[in-house]
Amino acid sequence: MSAVAPVLRVAQLVPRTEAEGPGLRFAVWVQGCPLRCPGCCNPEMFAAERGTVTTAEALAAQVLATPGIEGLSVLGGEPFAQTGPVAELCERVRAAGLSVMVFSGYTLAELRAQGRPDVERLLATLDLLVDGRYEKDLPEQQRRWIGSSNQVMHFLSPRYAPEDPTFTAPNTAEVHLVEGRVIINGWPALANRLRP
Ligand code: SF4
Repeated sequence: MSAVAPVLRVAQLVPRTEAEGPGLRFAVWVQGCPLRCPGCCNPEMFAAERGTVTTAEALAAQVLATPGIEGLSVLGGEPFAQTGPVAELCERVRAAGLSVMVFSGYTLAELRAQGRPDVERLLATLDLLVDGRYEKDLPEQQRRWIGSSNQVMHFLSPRYAPEDPTFTAPNTAEVHLVEGRVIINGWPALANRLRP
């Protein structure tokens, strides 16, 4: 019997961005989030059944076919709501030498406390994890790529260090045209101001 390929629900892709982590990155927003933080930038990504269905294998191939990128960033939606397929995607990308960054609404302590092998498998693929709920009353004013001041950037591998200049540069937001849609991504406080 052949194994079933891990299926992933994706809300949005931006193949080349400098506003979602260090260097030029392929950004994947997964569909579905059970946490529902008030003030979330992406409420259209709450429902688990929306989005586009793909396989981790196909998406990894798309990431690896994108020239000049330093890594993959997975945002949401909630990546740990689709833990197995996201782990598969991240493993494939990291095995090819790219870095992997994930943004989760769960704290690292909450994730570790679950004691789940699939959660540990995904954590083991990460260079960077930004964790914690988005708190609209605590907007982050300084740190790049982070929405609210309660959230923590965890350096889970030696690949990056907090003192690297890329982590201390000013925060940014970007505007992209992807498949005829205008997408504004990056620093939530600025991105929200740019949205029509
Ligand atoms: S965890 Fe992230 S995607 Fe989910 S509701 Fe909170 S801010 Fe939105």
